[in-house]
Amino acid sequence: MFKFERKKRFKKEPLKKGIFKKRPCRFCGDKVKNIDYLDYQKFQKFLTERGKIVPSRLSGNCASHQRQLAQAIKKARVLSLLPFVAE
Ligand SMILES: [Zn+2]
Repeated sequence: MFKFERKKRFKKEPLKKGIFKKRPCRFCGDKVKNIDYLDYQKFQKFLTERGKIVPSRLSGNCASHQRQLAQAIKKARVLSLLPFVAE
């Protein structure tokens, strides 16, 4: 009886899978090699409401495209195509 209770108490909860779904990289899907900052209208998906860049673990971008995207967004910010901070 005691053993049974103890086993029950220390039983691990099953790991919830599916919360962090790995999304495919959209740029790889569209076969975009170089991200141009002039496509800044498409970057809205990768920016939060406040204008911050969404991390790749949320957006699902691959590392190389996330790097290019960050550079393109920063260029667009300097050229005042995108806001640094949205009100
Ligand atoms: Zn990619």
